[in-house]
Amino acid sequence: MKYDYLIVGAGLFGAVFAREAVRRGKKVLVLDRRDHIGGNIYTKETEGIQVHQYGAHIFHTSDKKIWEYVNQFAEFNNYINSPIAIYKDELYNLPFNMNTFSKMWNIRTPREAQEKIQEQIRELNITEPKNLEEQALSLAGRDVYEKLIKGYTEKQWGRDCRELPSFIIKRLPFRFTYDNNYFNDRFQGIPMGGYTRIVEKMLEGCEVRTGTDYFKFRKEHSEIAEKIVFTGMIDEYFDYRLGALEYRSVRFETEVLDCENYQGNAVVNYTDREVPYTRIIEHKHFEFGKQPKTVISREYSSEWKVGMEPYYPVNDEKNNELYSRYRALAEKENNVIFGGRLGQYKYYDMDKVIAAALEAAEHEFAGTGEKK
Ligand code: UDP
Repeated sequence: MKYDYLIVGAGLFGAVFAREAVRRGKKVLVLDRRDHIGGNIYTKETEGIQVHQYGAHIFHTSDKKIWEYVNQFAEFNNYINSPIAIYKDELYNLPFNMNTFSKMWNIRTPREAQEKIQEQIRELNITEPKNLEEQALSLAGRDVYEKLIKGYTEKQWGRDCRELPSFIIKRLPFRFTYDNNYFNDRFQGIPMGGYTRIVEKMLEGCEVRTGTDYFKFRKEHSEIAEKIVFTGMIDEYFDYRLGALEYRSVRFETEVLDCENYQGNAVVNYTDREVPYTRIIEHKHFEFGKQPKTVISREYSSEWKVGMEPYYPVNDEKNNELYSRYRALAEKENNVIFGGRLGQYKYYDMDKVIAAALEAAEHEFAGTGEKK
């Protein structure tokens, strides 16, 4: 065996695991099917602007250890995500907060907002929300649900809000203060110089082969490493033998515009059904950029099909049940660790991916001598 670890996928999970292995003196080979490292956090410079090629990634965490960990690889700026939502000809602040409610109902106090929401949900009698629609209604009332949640969610997930799990909307803060910070986390920012640089640093000391498909590679190199860390799609690993899991994909239409400032904010969501895209990202605003040009990406969400990039696992009951059967197969697969959004079929944020990779490494290397 030439390597201790073969890591499939040079995204965040794979890179953190690789770095932890190298730090302990292991020999590591990392493969990625794409022609670059970084997975979906990959950023590339265009017109002096770091463009998030696979969708906007804003780092946020409440875990000081994870924040310190990631700060070893980059300095983070003080960006705070405060998206705007456009519904037809109306404009609101996100997440759902007093700015949103005051614009929606022309009110000022938290009490007035709470009364308005209560009035809208009284007759619904939702005691325990069973799905995303009930969760959203019971938190925010009918107006907010219909203008800011329903259309956006159905475009993003391609499913009725009553068929989606409520945890998706629980990701978003909902508060009765005038606070437009999209996240509740204590630490937040964008790495100066882009995410790709972080992954490059994490992968120092490993051999990396991009443009290499693991499923082809393993035909000729089945005995190349003692252990495998697999961060691709778990159902593909098992050749879809129990059936295919569903994923959502995103298509980006990216344009360089000859203007300095197109929309005045990094993230603008389009929450009605009629606009075909879910949001427009203007990348320079993540870094307070002053370049003469700007780069924008429109995001179109679709069902994943073979050949497309998978982005979001669809964690509804049907898919979770199928995943648990793949998970049982994975547990029997000696010497393979499954990790990341695709390997664990989980709607992970970046900080949680890092935490999971560190945990997997700790488990793996428990008791072995550490080289600092
Ligand atoms: N969401 C919404 N309206 C918005 C933004 C988000 O209803 O304007 C809902 C939607 O269901 C979405 C979920 O909140 O899937 C999570 O949004 P988030 O921005 O966290 O998604 P991500 O950035 O991971 O795509």
